[in-house]
Amino acid sequence: MKKQFKAESKKLLDLMINSIYTNKEIFLRELISNASDAIDKLYYLSLTNKEIKVKKSDFKITLAVDKESRTLTITDNGIGMNQEELEENLGTIAKSGSSLFKEEMEKKKNIDIIGQFGVGFYSSFMVASSVKVTSKKFDSDKSYTWESSGVDGYQMKETEKDTIGTEIILTLKEGEEYDEFLEEYKLREIVKKYSDYISYPITMMVTHRHKKDNSDEYEEHKEEETLNSMVPLWKKDKKNIKEEDYQQFYHDKFFDYEDSLQTIHSTVEGKCTYTTLLYIPSHAPYDFYTKEYEKGLQLYANGVLIMDKCKELLPDYFSFVKGLVDTSDLSLNISREMLQQDKNLGLIASNIEKKIQKELISMLENDREKYEKFFQAFGMQLKFGIYNSYGMKKEELQDLLLFHSSQDKKFITLKEYLSRMKDKQDKIYYACGETIDKIDLLPQVEQVKEKGYEVLYLTDYVDEFVMQVLNEYEGKKFANVSSDIDLDSEDEKKALEKKNEQLKDVFAVMKETLKDEISDIRLTHRLKNHPVCLVSKGNVSLEMEKVINAMPTDEKIKAETILEINENHEISKKIEKLYKEDKKELEKYTKILYAQARLIEGLPIENPTEISNLVCELLAK
Ligand code: ADP
Repeated sequence: MKKQFKAESKKLLDLMINSIYTNKEIFLRELISNASDAIDKLYYLSLTNKEIKVKKSDFKITLAVDKESRTLTITDNGIGMNQEELEENLGTIAKSGSSLFKEEMEKKKNIDIIGQFGVGFYSSFMVASSVKVTSKKFDSDKSYTWESSGVDGYQMKETEKDTIGTEIILTLKEGEEYDEFLEEYKLREIVKKYSDYISYPITMMVTHRHKKDNSDEYEEHKEEETLNSMVPLWKKDKKNIKEEDYQQFYHDKFFDYEDSLQTIHSTVEGKCTYTTLLYIPSHAPYDFYTKEYEKGLQLYANGVLIMDKCKELLPDYFSFVKGLVDTSDLSLNISREMLQQDKNLGLIASNIEKKIQKELISMLENDREKYEKFFQAFGMQLKFGIYNSYGMKKEELQDLLLFHSSQDKKFITLKEYLSRMKDKQDKIYYACGETIDKIDLLPQVEQVKEKGYEVLYLTDYVDEFVMQVLNEYEGKKFANVSSDIDLDSEDEKKALEKKNEQLKDVFAVMKETLKDEISDIRLTHRLKNHPVCLVSKGNVSLEMEKVINAMPTDEKIKAETILEINENHEISKKIEKLYKEDKKELEKYTKILYAQARLIEGLPIENPTEISNLVCELLAK
């Protein structure tokens, strides 16, 4: 009786069967990788369970072809599957990667992304018209066969199989493009290309031809040949590894279709001996900013994979790093709980963190273009690192940050800002806003620039929180141009204070009009051309008010603000005049000025109709 595939699997299967993806040969990589995983699992179990009697040297993966029947057979002596597992693993999409793959595929209609995902077992349907899987689990007497010719379902039955493990027989589709998968040379080539580093032998019976003694005739005989070199890439001598080898390995192992930006391959010998092969991707994976994304490095103990994503090896702010660690100083049968407390693992993790940090600094110093590309992809992660650690990681991360600045609106580091500071400048100025252009037009920015000071332009919503956590850099405090900063000389300050004192009563009327909206009104020298602006006082800035209030919670906050009026603007004389001649009119002006100040800041106004009417009334005069 035929059983039906689950709906999701059916769709993926359909995509595979009808795939026009040209790189069909990757099916072999997928099947070999499954076989190798299955052997890893059995070997791993055997380390803790003495009942399981296996010898490492007996493990192997075998390929066999039969041109007559158009079959390619892949056999392993790994852990095997029982009836339920055959059903469960091959009848449904087991891993999230596959369903994500399907989504991407449907969204982008992009066939080339097959290689990016480990689509696994189903990829065999790209080349095979029918697939037969026979398996015997290590702890079972029975064996079963799973068989399918495509979307219309699969069959399961009990069979005879002597040995533990799995055998997969592919009957290749008709057509020239599939014929090559029956050729020894082609299979050898594919194995070399994608599976050379698999740590178990991948063998095949190959035909050898010799000349018969004293004759022109040839004699053929078959011999078992190991196709892969079995030395994992990271264990090879760096001198003998080409950049393209690193990239090929990266593509295959970490499912990225683009090359990595940076490869870090190093061996450390000492208290703890280990090799790391790390990659910094050139772009964020599609699920990087989702809950599904799992950070971590592969962990090998002497070449045997013991964990696929060991998260203890990477701090959150370097969660984008892909790669692996291979060490001889961990015991193979260590449990997860024990691992977390393992001293060596902690040591390796802290060295890795330093190594990545050093590599990034050197990229920043030696290849600015590359670093900016990196920062655009993952800079946010570094900022979160500073923010989430409450500044504990400040030393490690602050020099990796880039900000745009007023000078030429390009990225600069804090160090570069410092080196360009003016003689008497004692603060690092910054301004926040939605875009660089909008910030550049902020009235408060104007005067700071006028004084010849450079301003950092912050556009990410975490930026300002980062500044608060950093607090200072090399002894220079950070100052928001929209907060209470003053650039005046002592004399100028005194003059302004006096003038403010004179206008005390005028401001009292204005404050009464605006009630709780603002905490103060005063004249300022902060502005050059603009009539008014809002500045914040206290810990909550205007930008934070915007960010926090945009969050979907009930918690709303309000920055404590001061309405500042440009002393050198005509408007300051006008309000004085209105105070003397027409207080009702002064109230109207006050409302308009306040609305203007909010609008320039990108803040909403609560009474747009009223303001609009007031403006029209003035225009009509
Ligand atoms: P993935 O390997 O990415 O999980 P696959 O579709 O390739 O996805 O395989 C699904 C599951 O089937 C595997 O996770 C594994 O449990 C099982 N499996 C596949 N091939 C073998 C094999 N040769 N031996 C034992 N189990 C296997």
